[in-house]
Amino acid sequence: MKIVTGQLGSVAPGGRSAIWAATGRLGGHSRPPFDELNLASYVGDAPEDVERNLQIAATSIGLATTNLVLMKGVHGAQVLIVERGGPVPDVVPGFDALVTKSPGVGLVVLAADCVPLVLADVVNQVVGAVHCGWRGLTAGVVPAAVEQMRLLGADQLQAVIGPSICVKCYPVPPERVLEVRAGLPAVISAAACPDSEVPCLDVGAGVRAQLAAAGVSPRKVQTLAGCTAHTAGLFSYRRDGVTGRQGMLVRL
Ligand SMILES: [Zn+2]
Repeated sequence: MKIVTGQLGSVAPGGRSAIWAATGRLGGHSRPPFDELNLASYVGDAPEDVERNLQIAATSIGLATTNLVLMKGVHGAQVLIVERGGPVPDVVPGFDALVTKSPGVGLVVLAADCVPLVLADVVNQVVGAVHCGWRGLTAGVVPAAVEQMRLLGADQLQAVIGPSICVKCYPVPPERVLEVRAGLPAVISAAACPDSEVPCLDVGAGVRAQLAAAGVSPRKVQTLAGCTAHTAGLFSYRRDGVTGRQGMLVRL
């Protein structure tokens, strides 16, 4: 998958909008096993290749890399309010969600099977980027990000969910399904594999359910096509082990 970009909100000059991008594996500078467009500096890739890839990603939303803020997720529910971007670019450890009201700051979420998503209220000018795997579902990082954005004035949220591992590619131990269900009594987050006795987890469905439960209308949630594990043009940790990370970016 090459970079996909989109705009939420007004397309009129001076109109309020947010710009997002979803990157894939194709069109970057990294060499195997990080080929091509790896955006993560913490997976063992050459720093100069990652920097050039980040320039490609930043340009796709009209920014320089010094305007980007990236996070290294820990599968928790901590939300960081970002005041401004940089320097060069920041990689913030310990957070799985970033939110900002600052125009010109590019929030970046990296993933390779987990669900990356971006949120925006273009009228009230708040954007967010969230990283959510099965532990994020149980920790509640999605509702935590929505709540923090509401505290910053958001009341008309839209979301774009990026490519993640699909339910058919994500068999898990039965106890994990129970654990996820126990943490999410109100949502259906697990489904059986259609072709297997082994239970499988649908993290994307869990994220959509949590968004709906948090008051984000399903009509305002867009999901990009593509399973990381069975699409050659996407990075998959579960498929490849040592590999790169694709990302989603959002800015006001
Ligand atoms: Zn799949």
